[in-house]
Amino acid sequence: MTKKQEAFSLKFDTDWQYSPAVEPIDHVELKEKYDLFIGGTFVPSHSKKYFESINPSTEDSIAQLAIADEIDVDNAVKAARKAFPSWAKLPSKERGKYIFRIARLIQERAKEFAIIETLDGGKPIREASDIDIPLAAAHFFYYAGWADKLQYAFPNRKIEPLGVVGQIIPWNSPLLMAAWKIAPALACGNTVVLKPSENTSLTALKLAELIKDAELPDGVVNIVTGAEKTGIAIVNHPGIDKVAFTGSTTVGKSIQRSITESKRLSLELRGKAVNIIFDDAAIDQAVEGVVNGIFFNQGHVCCAGSRLLVQESIKVEVERKLKARMETLIVGDPMDKNTDIGAINSKRQLKAIEAYLKVGEKEGFESFQLKNALPKKGYYCQPTLFFDVAQSSRLVKEEVFGPVLTIQTFRTIDEAIEKANNTSYRLSAGVWTDKGSKAFNLSAQLKAAVVWVNTFNKFDPTSPFGSYKESGFGREGGLQGLEAYLKFK
Ligand code: NAD
Repeated sequence: MTKKQEAFSLKFDTDWQYSPAVEPIDHVELKEKYDLFIGGTFVPSHSKKYFESINPSTEDSIAQLAIADEIDVDNAVKAARKAFPSWAKLPSKERGKYIFRIARLIQERAKEFAIIETLDGGKPIREASDIDIPLAAAHFFYYAGWADKLQYAFPNRKIEPLGVVGQIIPWNSPLLMAAWKIAPALACGNTVVLKPSENTSLTALKLAELIKDAELPDGVVNIVTGAEKTGIAIVNHPGIDKVAFTGSTTVGKSIQRSITESKRLSLELRGKAVNIIFDDAAIDQAVEGVVNGIFFNQGHVCCAGSRLLVQESIKVEVERKLKARMETLIVGDPMDKNTDIGAINSKRQLKAIEAYLKVGEKEGFESFQLKNALPKKGYYCQPTLFFDVAQSSRLVKEEVFGPVLTIQTFRTIDEAIEKANNTSYRLSAGVWTDKGSKAFNLSAQLKAAVVWVNTFNKFDPTSPFGSYKESGFGREGGLQGLEAYLKFK
């Protein structure tokens, strides 16, 4: 770095002192105990057992949540089955009205949802407020609009809802994942049993309260909490017509093995996305996109751009700018509006990420990490870059699901494509170039369901998102997201 560049570096945590801007949370109402939402009311679990939901930024317990066993799941499926005929027969315009109502109520209570998402999951309040919650509302708005237009979406085809859908979601974007699952299912006339992740169930339970306020007919949406056993009970229940799962590839494969043929299945699984920067790209914008691609939500994103491929001629410049941009990142209290990188979602996930950092260390790759002090309590991880990582390294092959970026180089387009496609995950990719022809060529040749050009991590309810190979199958969002919840006759 030249002297002039050093003078202008923005080391916010060190050279610049920001006054904390902590979001007040005293107006948010949280119960000490949450029961299961079945048939339109909150009911205690059959076992009367509870588990704790932990705030990852403080390690404090936030609330006790009921554990649903097979009997509770059976009750939830029965409630959904009972509600199905009248929900499916309801004039589609009326179904749409309920979904619009849910969307509007999410908007009205957006701040409350954002705070709970941050408390429960550790993501920066800025991201929860500006991205997760507005996108969740947008999803309900979008599918509310489709509810009475399904015949236009699929002209000349006879369509029917599937019935009762079991939906199982992960912890990285809890309300958003719930919206991705519930909104299209309801628009198509299905009823739902949803299980949020045991790490982050609170916004789903708040959504249950909101659904009650929206006066959705009892049993149309049921929300059961618990961990693996609750998920297995949903998958194996004979009264479920479709399982929609988002989570790890390991669990997705086990579901695929155990599911009976009569049930429909969609799997949204792991990713290992690449960002490719060509020497004709607008480098500053590309660096910004790469930083957003890997450090957004602490890297807990299935489509996180965790591999960077840089054209060799610009390697030095890109790496210098990446380091300089990283110096500006503030890691710390997720409830502070200044924070860019919050807490890792759980102790277990922190250990998993630290194990990957050790892999990088052991394999001898040069690395760069921020050196600022992390909060003493809570699960935090410094954002990390690894340079010149070998293609064979586990860091390049496996999903880390944390703020860790590997950097590799390429000389030719063919080499970039070969390295980019050398993964069994097929979720997303990013290309940074000034040349339209190169962008089209790459997006056709990259083996990824979503390819962003000169941008990254852009989500919109109107455009389908999905994957193939080890990343699963199925589409969420857009017209394609409706197909997942309809029978075509
Ligand atoms: P996970 O597979 O451990 O758990 C996901 C959900 O499944 C949780 O609700 C969990 O309780 C439940 N579950 C666990 N074992 C089960 C079983 N045997 N049967 C049924 N349900 C079971 O995944 P996670 O750690 O919660 O989530 C992180 C993963 O999710 C990452 O790999 C990420 O890439 C993936 N993800 C994918 C997408 C996508 O759209 N492709 C989106 C978000 C997250």
